[in-house]
This record gives sequence, structure tokens and C-alpha cells, in this order.
Amino acid sequence: MRAAVLYEPHRPLQVRELEQEPPKAGEVLVRMGAAGLCASDHHFMVGTAKMPLPLVLGHEAGGTVVETGEGVTTVRPGDRCILSFVPNCGHCRVCRSGKPQLCETHQAAPTLQFDGTLRLHDGEQGIHQMHKMGAFSDYAVMPQQSCYPIPSEVPMPVAALIGCCVTTGVGSVINNPEARVGMTVAVFGCGGVGLNVIQGARLLNASKIIAVDILDHKLEFSYRFGATDVINAREVDAVEAIRELTGGGVDLAFDSFGSPQVMSDAVKAVRKGGAGVMIGLGPLGESAPVDMVDFIRNQKSLLGAYYGMASPHETFGKLVDLYLKGRIDVDGLITREYALDEINEGFDALASGEDGRGVIVYPN
Ligand SMILES: [Zn+2]
Ligand SMILES: [Zn+2]
Repeated sequence: MRAAVLYEPHRPLQVRELEQEPPKAGEVLVRMGAAGLCASDHHFMVGTAKMPLPLVLGHEAGGTVVETGEGVTTVRPGDRCILSFVPNCGHCRVCRSGKPQLCETHQAAPTLQFDGTLRLHDGEQGIHQMHKMGAFSDYAVMPQQSCYPIPSEVPMPVAALIGCCVTTGVGSVINNPEARVGMTVAVFGCGGVGLNVIQGARLLNASKIIAVDILDHKLEFSYRFGATDVINAREVDAVEAIRELTGGGVDLAFDSFGSPQVMSDAVKAVRKGGAGVMIGLGPLGESAPVDMVDFIRNQKSLLGAYYGMASPHETFGKLVDLYLKGRIDVDGLITREYALDEINEGFDALASGEDGRGVIVYPN
């Protein structure tokens, strides 16, 4: 099999021929159908996030089960699946308390299979898989818990996007305990996740959906997903503009970008009693300043939202249904398709701020 491997930050990914072990107990072999290019992958490429290297990146994917290991009961060969980047152990404290997206066992060793070993090798060298998946590969072994079977009408690139940006974005609105019908919303950052926060807010009939970015073409693109107003934060003070548009601030402000400045602005942009929601991962080790008096006297709150704030499989099911009924637009998010060999070109496009999502499509 072939995979795109990260050997060290700031070097292009190398597409290599690797040896793949067969699936062990509880694991499956998946033939990849499509894999999205996400900013979270890019963080590892530029060293602002860390996992053990060498590493096959890719965590937003759809594929077909082709082989099952001993004791696999939840999927069969031939099942087309959305792949979850948090396969959950089912018995750690957070799994038992209904938050499998935060599985402690997975987070403790996200590049190893649950038995603590690797399935990919390059001669003597072991190769890690991002989130037990490493979707930038023709085939990958992963836990059966990664797989969520879907109907044949869902195209593989759509399955891929539901695997990360759609669930992360739409989920952080529809599963958000602070979300209400008719609310006002601001979304900072109009990348793959931000556009999905926008369409999540549209699903909940938000009365105002204000998109904030520094690129006009991204703001223009955001209207397609439900933005009602747009603000270019390079031209005007975004916080002031949001307060003006809403008479004092929005009910919910989402930071899908992930920087100290944006997070700080998102908290300032909410009204009394409103909430800031942090979704975009900032660089490792960064902190964001919060105006303490504003935060307390206006009784604001701040929520972290990981992987749609709920069980990924539960959110996948809802999103597949909404997609098939035409209530969310996933196809419109996909702006370019690449072959695995073109992956570095795809990440260059992501880094330069191209609209929507680039997707690797595998020939099968
Ligand atoms: Zn992602
Ligand atoms: Zn767990």
C-alpha cells in the first residue's frame, strides 16, 4: 500500500510504499475512498501540533471495510463507512459518562492501535497513524469503533467531510447546550469548520449569522451556507461591527480559526449572558487573554467544543440524514479533488486560504 508520510515538520509529505500488517482482534482493514485536507493535519506539518513521527496524516475520511480481524461484530467486509478520528475504548471514565469523543484511552496514545502497537512498517522502521487512521493511504488498519456504516447514496467525499469538518462545525451548534432557535451568531473564520458552523446555525433558524474573516472571497462564499451578514476583520473592528449589527453583541460567537486574538475577540463580541465557543485548535501551548471585568460583569461563558460536542457516531447519523434530505450542503464545500501524489499541492492551497475543502480521492 502507499501512504503520504510526515518525517519532519516543514518538509513536504513523502508518498511511500509501506508494509501493512493484517488487522488484529477488534480491528478492520479499510480501503480508503476519500480523505479531506484539514487544518489540523497542517498543524503537524508546520510543527504547531505534535504526534510521534514518522506519521501518516489524515483524519477526515470515508472508506470501505475489506477485511475484519477476530471478534469484529459491528461491521462486515463491503460496508461503506464514515471514519471517526476518535475510536473510543468504551470503558474509560469519559466513555462511561457518555462523552466518547473525549476517550482518554485513545487520547493517551492516538497514533497506536488499542493494543499499543503499530500496523505500518517501512523495513525496520515503524510508522505511526494519525488517530489510529492515517487516512492519506490507500488502505489502513483501524479499530472497528472507527467505522460508521452509511447508505450507498452517500458519496465517499461527502462521507469524508462528515468525518471531521461537518461534524465539528454543525455539531458544535446543534449539540450545543447554549443554542436556541432564533439566536444571533457570529462565526470567526470561514474555512471548512466555520462554513459548517454557519450552516448549523441556519439549521437552527438563527436570526442573524455573521461571518467574520480577513479574505473577501471567503466571506462571499459563506453566503452560500447561510451567512446573513459578513465582516472583513482586516478592514473594520470586528467586535464593534458585531455589536452594531446586533445592538450589543451576539448570543453565541464561535472561534473556528484558533488564535489568541480571535478567541479574545469572540468573547468580547457576545452580549450579556452570551457564550463564546472555541472550536479551532490554536497552536500548541498558546493561551488567550480574556477581559476579566467584561467576562464577569456581563456574565459571559466560554465553551470548548471538540468533535461536535457529542458522540461522533450519533452526530454522523443525524448529518447523513440531513444530507440525504438536502438540509445541509456538503457537496458545495468540496472545491477541489486531488490524487494522493498531489497532496502537497493540496496543502499549499489550504495554507494560501483557498475556498472550501480539498479532498484526496482514491481510485477504486
Ligand atoms: Zn479535521
Ligand atoms: Zn474511552
